[in-house]
Amino acid sequence: MKRQRGAALALALVLCVFAAGCAQEHSHVLRYCGAVEPACTENGMQEHWECEICGALFYDEEGNLPATEIGIPALGHNLVSETILEATCEEAGLRHSVCLRCGQEVLREEIPAEGHIFKSYVITQNATCTREGEKVRTCVVCSKTETVSIPMEAHNWDTNNVCSVCSYACPVTDGLVFTEISGESGTVGYSVSSEDILTAKQVFVPYYHEGLPVLEIADGAFRDCSSLTRATVYAAAERLGVSAFRGCFALTEAVLPESLCEIGAEAFYGCRALRSLSIGSAVKEIGRSAFYGCGSLEHIFVDEENAVYASEGNCLVERENALLIVGGADAEIPDWIREIGDNAFLNNDHVAELDLPRTLVRIGSAAFYGCGNLKTVRYDGTVAQWEAVSKGDLWRGGAQFQVLCTDGEAVS
Ligand SMILES: [Zn+2]
Ligand SMILES: [Zn+2]
Ligand SMILES: [Zn+2]
Ligand SMILES: [Zn+2]
Repeated sequence: MKRQRGAALALALVLCVFAAGCAQEHSHVLRYCGAVEPACTENGMQEHWECEICGALFYDEEGNLPATEIGIPALGHNLVSETILEATCEEAGLRHSVCLRCGQEVLREEIPAEGHIFKSYVITQNATCTREGEKVRTCVVCSKTETVSIPMEAHNWDTNNVCSVCSYACPVTDGLVFTEISGESGTVGYSVSSEDILTAKQVFVPYYHEGLPVLEIADGAFRDCSSLTRATVYAAAERLGVSAFRGCFALTEAVLPESLCEIGAEAFYGCRALRSLSIGSAVKEIGRSAFYGCGSLEHIFVDEENAVYASEGNCLVERENALLIVGGADAEIPDWIREIGDNAFLNNDHVAELDLPRTLVRIGSAAFYGCGNLKTVRYDGTVAQWEAVSKGDLWRGGAQFQVLCTDGEAVS
């Protein structure tokens, strides 16, 4: 306790009788100590007298009233919270707590950005079968607008494969073979494949054939059509057969219908030129190695309504098993992934560095095989945790990248 030594010295001669065991006697020499007002964080003190010889404290100048409690507790700050900067929709604000008594700032904290409050979308342009539409929404607070495109509508085909809305006629691709699919009451539609190896650069799969819908792309339908660069499926097919486009080395784009439910195993196996992948809301099964060696994928898109699969960080993932099936250029592995599937980044030249989450339990066979430009993998766990991650055959496949863990570099 801080004691203010008063200038005034009060002297009093008082007979002091010590407690039993201490027979020494003296006359207290009392000195005045003025009162100290308490402050926010410092204790105060009542006025009192103190003996210069024995340190005894008294409330009175005569030394008749021994002082037991002369301290006055600190008052504590008298805080008010003040906003220095208001938060807006997009930017954080600032607030502090300041003492009304001493002016000290005790706390300074961010006020989170409020986030926009958008009104419903207003369609500014309807989508048609030849053009995307557009819709706009506006924030009621700051008037910021957000514009989103509305996907093109499908053509409205007549049985001659001419659109009744825009009159576009589905081009005929020579060499297509249509096989009847039988139902209870005879032929219900067709399965399409190709005669031999197509030499066409583009294939168009029509909606109808001889008045009935084309319902599936047969197993191996366009297998090894190495001159094929673009495939457009207008048919409302539900199934893309096993190995349907396997070995189509030049294929850069495949437009698949919204109706598709199943992508067969090895459907795009070895399609090393495939640049974009767009998976609709209805796909609920993707077969094994469907995208094996599709190392050039720049854009991976999965409809948000799809319950089984999703695209995140330019990766195709299966939600339930937290499995990454295939990664595209500049992939950012989602931080909830548990497994990187077999061949997920096989021959992917577009990734230079990757961050692997701590949730990872397995890396599949040949997952990073042939990743010629991959230099750094950062793992969000310790070397010991990295070593506990199960790794399939040739998971690294000779690719020369370093694995940096939180506590150092892993050697394996
Ligand atoms: Zn004394
Ligand atoms: Zn204060
Ligand atoms: Zn706003
Ligand atoms: Zn049309």
